[in-house]
Parts: sequence; structure tokens; C-alpha cells
Amino acid sequence: MPFTKPSMPDKPVKLRIKKGDTVCVITGKDKGRRGLVLSASPKTNQITVEDVNVAVRHRKERPSKVVDSSGQPTIVPGGKISSNAPMHVAKVMLVCPHCDRPTRVGYAYRDGEEKLSRRKYRVCKHPECGKSLDSIDA
Ligand SMILES: [Zn+2]
Repeated sequence: MPFTKPSMPDKPVKLRIKKGDTVCVITGKDKGRRGLVLSASPKTNQITVEDVNVAVRHRKERPSKVVDSSGQPTIVPGGKISSNAPMHVAKVMLVCPHCDRPTRVGYAYRDGEEKLSRRKYRVCKHPECGKSLDSIDA
């Protein structure tokens, strides 16, 4: 087998997607699905999305190391266990809450403040929308 370089984790970039956003999956097995972002990890560029990229494990029932009051080990239930697996941020697009479409994310500054204290907020890139994706008062 030829030597293949081990795949390095992505260089961290600033994520344009945050926990609590609604995203639309643009590629892969869950293409077209929408869901809420449950967690975002900027270090690995991975996010977990509710009901997207669900990994199902078939587990056998087994005793755990935790012992209950009668001295018997507690049983970890078996069966089909589904969990949301992390996926790459590039597979999703943020859905604009104003125009309800997947959108690219731009940044804008709040007006009327000193340059150093100005806060960036995210805006919808659709030219006819352009509204803020964050709650500005926060
Ligand atoms: Zn919009």
C-alpha cells in the first residue's frame, strides 16, 4: 500500500455559524435538511446539528462499573442508540431568519460608535434582504 499522509485536522478558521443557529445542509446524505445547531467547535471546524448526520449504534446491554445500593452493577441499556455525529461546517449554510433562505454570511458594524468599541454583527448576503442575523441588542 502506498504511503498516504495522515489527514491533518483543518486549520481553525472563524466559524460563521454559532450554537442556536438554524442551518440547511447543502451536501451529503442529509442534503436539504434543516436543523438547529447544537454545538460548534471552531478548533476542528465541526458542528453538530439536530437530526442531521445521525449515527445509529447497535449496543448490547451490559453492566456498568457503577454499583447501585444493593451491590449489583447497574445495567447500561442496549438496543439502537442514535446520536448526532459532528459534521464539517462547509456542509451547511446558515438560514436567514428574515428571508428563510440559506445564505452566505457577511459582517457589518453597528453605526454610531467609536471604532474600537464597535461590535461586528452578522448580516444576510442576499441583496434584497441584508438584515442582521444576530439580535443586535444582545
Ligand atoms: Zn435574509
